[in-house]
Amino acid sequence: MEIQHDVPLAKFSTWRIGGRAETVYLPKTIAEAQEAIRICLAADQKPVILGGGSNLLISDRFSDMRRPVIRLADNFAGVTFEDDRATALAGTRLMPFCQSAMTHGLGGMEFISGVPGTIGGAVVMNAGCWGDEMAAHIVSVTLLQPDGEVKEAPASELGYSYRHSALQDSGTVVLAATLQMTRLPIPEIAETLNRLKIERNTKQPTNQLNAGSVFRNPPGDFAARLIDQAGAKGLRCGQAQISDRHANFLVNLGGAKADEVYTLIHHVQQHIRATTGIDLQTEVVLIGDFAPVPGWTPEPAAAT
Ligand SMILES: Cc1cc2nc3c(=O)[nH]c(=O)nc-3n(C[C@H](O)[C@H](O)[C@H](O)COP(=O)(O)OP(=O)(O)OC[C@H]3O[C@@H](n4cnc5c(N)ncnc54)[C@H](O)[C@@H]3O)c2cc1C
Repeated sequence: MEIQHDVPLAKFSTWRIGGRAETVYLPKTIAEAQEAIRICLAADQKPVILGGGSNLLISDRFSDMRRPVIRLADNFAGVTFEDDRATALAGTRLMPFCQSAMTHGLGGMEFISGVPGTIGGAVVMNAGCWGDEMAAHIVSVTLLQPDGEVKEAPASELGYSYRHSALQDSGTVVLAATLQMTRLPIPEIAETLNRLKIERNTKQPTNQLNAGSVFRNPPGDFAARLIDQAGAKGLRCGQAQISDRHANFLVNLGGAKADEVYTLIHHVQQHIRATTGIDLQTEVVLIGDFAPVPGWTPEPAAAT
């Protein structure tokens, strides 16, 4: 198994932010993933599981936690098809997954194609957009439990709700997922993939380093609307900035620190709570410890 030491985790996050990890395991097979879990178990260490790193804020002080990392991404990819179902290994990226399904005349999951993560991350986060979500398509998943045993679980056991599953922070690794697809004409699938790509590029700051939506939408409202209404678009802390294109996106202008991103998250939560009574919860998963930048006060980006 490939094992890396003293690894800057920023390279594994779409924000390009994060401290160093002492050890990163990069399994290529289920047996190697099991071996990684067993090594962690023997050392009494709870590993951090990474997929594509597109929904993570990793602390600048990650190494203080002394936690190993297991990354299931591009090394751990592949899709097989049987009838109208696709089974994808956890590290399979979502766009290649949809494109591969299309070549088999299988669609119905185009909604997820623009999400830049892996099947495993999307299963855990119940990723969704355009009115659809992963939970609606998952038949079953193959799980590697914290004790190193592999088991199959139906979607009904995964505790799904909006951007949530019981798998989050459970110590369980998703190895693969079987998804219910729909037989569709290939040109129709291709047209949908293309249309959704164009729509996403017009609405989101896809040309800047980001981690998608930072906050979950509160019931009956939109986090972006609340942040926009608070006049926080463009607000900056160091090299981190609330996107002026999409208020629920936070961008790294280059060399941003995790604490700078955290400062903006913390400020938005406090401000929205004080002005509306709404508690915005992060959709982005925070790993490690964070502290607001001392002495920072909000200044509009127009001045920068
Ligand atoms: C430009 C952009 C647009 C986005 N748009 C959307 C969107 O429209 N809808 C949406 O829902 N999200 C969106 N996201 C967020 C993100 O892409 C999704 O949450 C995605 O599902 C995360 O997948 P990942 O592989 O990157 O997971 P990571 O970010 O690596 O991890 C996310 C969580 O899943 C866990 N995890 C990852 N893989 C595994 C595994 N194999 N086993 C166990 N745990 C695992 C991690 O420990 C972590 O808790 C967007 C992000 C970006 C950067």
